[in-house]
Amino acid sequence: MALDATTGLGAMTGARYIESLKDGREVWLDGEKVPDVTVHPALSGIVHELARIYDLQHSGEYREQMTFVSPDTGNRCSLSWLLPRTMEDLKKKRRNSEIWNEQSWGQLGRSPDILAPHIITLYNARESLSAVENPHCDFGENLVNYHRYCMENDLFLTHALGDPQVDRSQQPQNEQREISEEEVALHVVEETNEGVIVNGAKQLATAAPISNETYVSLSATFVRRADPRFILAFSIPTNTPGLKALCREPVSQWAGSYGHPLGMLYDEQDSMLFFENVLVPWDRIFMLYDAGPLLQRLGSGINFLGWPNLCRIHQRMRLMTAVATLIAEAIGVIEYREVAAKIGEMVTYAEVWRHAMDGLEHNAFMTDGGLMSLGSMSGMNIFFAQTSARMVQLLREISGSGLIMQPSENDLANPELRGFLDKYMRGKGVEVDYKSRLYRLAHDLAVSSFGMRQEVYEYWHGGDPNRNRINLLNTYDQTDMIDRIKDLVSRPLAHG
Ligand SMILES: Cc1cc2nc3c(=O)[nH]c(=O)nc-3n(C[C@H](O)[C@H](O)[C@H](O)COP(=O)(O)OP(=O)(O)OC[C@H]3O[C@@H](n4cnc5c(N)ncnc54)[C@H](O)[C@@H]3O)c2cc1C
Repeated sequence: MALDATTGLGAMTGARYIESLKDGREVWLDGEKVPDVTVHPALSGIVHELARIYDLQHSGEYREQMTFVSPDTGNRCSLSWLLPRTMEDLKKKRRNSEIWNEQSWGQLGRSPDILAPHIITLYNARESLSAVENPHCDFGENLVNYHRYCMENDLFLTHALGDPQVDRSQQPQNEQREISEEEVALHVVEETNEGVIVNGAKQLATAAPISNETYVSLSATFVRRADPRFILAFSIPTNTPGLKALCREPVSQWAGSYGHPLGMLYDEQDSMLFFENVLVPWDRIFMLYDAGPLLQRLGSGINFLGWPNLCRIHQRMRLMTAVATLIAEAIGVIEYREVAAKIGEMVTYAEVWRHAMDGLEHNAFMTDGGLMSLGSMSGMNIFFAQTSARMVQLLREISGSGLIMQPSENDLANPELRGFLDKYMRGKGVEVDYKSRLYRLAHDLAVSSFGMRQEVYEYWHGGDPNRNRINLLNTYDQTDMIDRIKDLVSRPLAHG
């Protein structure tokens, strides 16, 4: 039975999103089960911030820029789920992603907008999914139905692609580790008429506790397996019985009144997922036992991350650059050559990124699956894994000790202290309130536990950068240049 998309209500509203999370999901945090993620202090900030952005989809200002009319139901649906068939569609999707990222200051690694492209690229590969036969279902049809279901309900997905970090001493396909794959990695233990029963764990699912659905597949590292029971791609509701999400230590909370403008709103949580005899219905399975279509998709050159990731990184770069500029002004160092050059370096990265985004748009192409894809972004994720750390470092170098030494809101409000703060903690031509809040923003980017989590995220979220660099080297065509060099050095080098 295919998932029913006809009852969907279209683009999510804030209230509907909050209500959808009160569904008995099993979320664990600090040794305790979370009864309601929408009111838990570690999660309610992000939940309500997402609810606010969802509501923009229905506002007069953003409705046209964030939604389109579904040809099937007449619902207004999120542009995140639009299947792009023209350049015009790609441009609309770009604007939608810009809005999501402007609203969230480029701080949401796994926003609802960012997960939709994963399903859209699988949609693009629907024929190769269908080509893998299974007596219970058609995987390609499942995916097409699932896309429609997500679009008409505007569902928020998390995704988990990796095996638990238990023993990396061998590649997954070698099966020579001391700890057997069967003990840890997610795999099929039984087939029934309803679906497959799976056991094992997956990492790392960002935003799982606040998502509607959990999409499971395999990354480039883990898709190469000898044992077919480990090859699977599917999506299930996050409240499916037997599925547990374990949260990491929150970075959203902070004692006192120091203020965390980003951390309190954008701690999207990262989770380990444990599957204990979980039933995955046949209509929710997109691939089973055959890595071929998943590998093909990874190597297709299709840009499956699309605009959301690109726009997010651009926003993040612009935010860091502007904060560095304002701080340099606020403490009177912007005129120094070295400081200005450092900010110029930050601008360089932001500009290179913008030009690359335009280049990807220019290189957009029609895929065999009938969808428009942005051009390949082969080296861009690797570039950002490197430059993000550099930009944070530059922000630290420009900001000095003010990054850690600032008064709290309670200090600012205290008349006994206020005179001292006005005198000794103000900036050049700016009040202490402005300067300390600006620095708190920089602190959240470069020092706080939220900022550090973002930094770790930027390095790892696209997969191991070293693996990605090697994959890039292996697929990078250098024949032309190498032949010329070999020709040049095949003869004595001419003098003068
Ligand atoms: C904040 C954050 C959020 C994330 N969100 C998501 C998400 O939403 N969904 C998702 O699916 N994933 C997510 N990830 C996981 C991310 O994709 C992985 O962190 C990444 O693929 C690296 O895997 P690992 O963390 O297990 O590190 P490991 O693979 O264990 O790497 C540890 C070290 O060992 C080295 N190493 C490992 N294996 C080998 C090898 N075979 N040969 C040589 N060196 C090796 C690595 O280079 C590294 O130095 C997230 C990660 C982070 C940090």
